[in-house]
Amino acid sequence: MAHVLPLWNIPSLGVKDSQAQFPVRRIFCVGRNYVEHQKEMGGDGREVPFFFIKSAHALVPGGGNVHYPPKTSNYHYETEMVVAIGKGGRRIDAKQANEHIYGYGVGLDMTRRDLQQLGKDHGRPWDFGKDFDAAAPCSALVPAARSGHPAKGAIWLKVNGKERQRADLSDMIWSVPEQIAYLSEYYTLEPGDLIYSGTPAGVGPVKAGDDLHAGVEGVGELKVKIVAAL
Ligand code: MN
Repeated sequence: MAHVLPLWNIPSLGVKDSQAQFPVRRIFCVGRNYVEHQKEMGGDGREVPFFFIKSAHALVPGGGNVHYPPKTSNYHYETEMVVAIGKGGRRIDAKQANEHIYGYGVGLDMTRRDLQQLGKDHGRPWDFGKDFDAAAPCSALVPAARSGHPAKGAIWLKVNGKERQRADLSDMIWSVPEQIAYLSEYYTLEPGDLIYSGTPAGVGPVKAGDDLHAGVEGVGELKVKIVAAL
C-alpha cells in the first residue's frame, strides 16, 4: 500500500543475547507504587496507585545519550522495572498474569517534574511532564523464560557513581500481576505493550553531563548520559 509519507520504524527494544527485536506498541506507567516514594511525593503511603501513558516513540532503546529536554528546570529520573507483554488479553486474572509476560527490562521514567507539578496544580493532564522526546530509556529485555518472574531483588540507581535509589521489588504496593489484572480491565492489553512498574523513593534532578546507571537484580542494567539540550 502506498503512503503519502515515508513509513517510520516501529519503536522496538533489543533482546539480550539475540539479534531479534521486541516491537513496542504502548507504554503504560504506574504512579506511586512504592510506599516511600508515595510519601516523598506528598502522599500518605496508602493511596491506590494509578496509571499514565507515554508514547512508544519516547523510548531510548538501550540507553546512551539523552538530551536535556526543553521547557524544564527540574528534570528527574525514576528507576523502574519494565514489564514487556508478549500475549494480549482483557480482564486477565492476576493468577494467570505471568503467562502474558514476554520479559523484563530496566527503564527510566524521565520526568519534567515542574511541568508535572503544573498539571497537578491546575487539574490538567500530566502529558507534558511525562511524555516527551526521549522520556523512556529502556534496556534490552531479558525473556522471562530465562529470568523467571522477579518479585523480589534489588532495584537501584547511581548518578555519577553515587547511589540515589535503592529498594526491593517486593516493596511494590501493587505487584506486577496485580498491575496487569487492573490494566486489563480498562484496556485490551496487546503484544508489544510495556508497563513501567513504578519507582522507589529517592527521585531527583539531573543536569547535562550526569551519568545515570540503573539496575534491577536478575534483569539487567541501563546506562544513560544526559547531554546538552538540542
Ligand atoms: Mn514513574
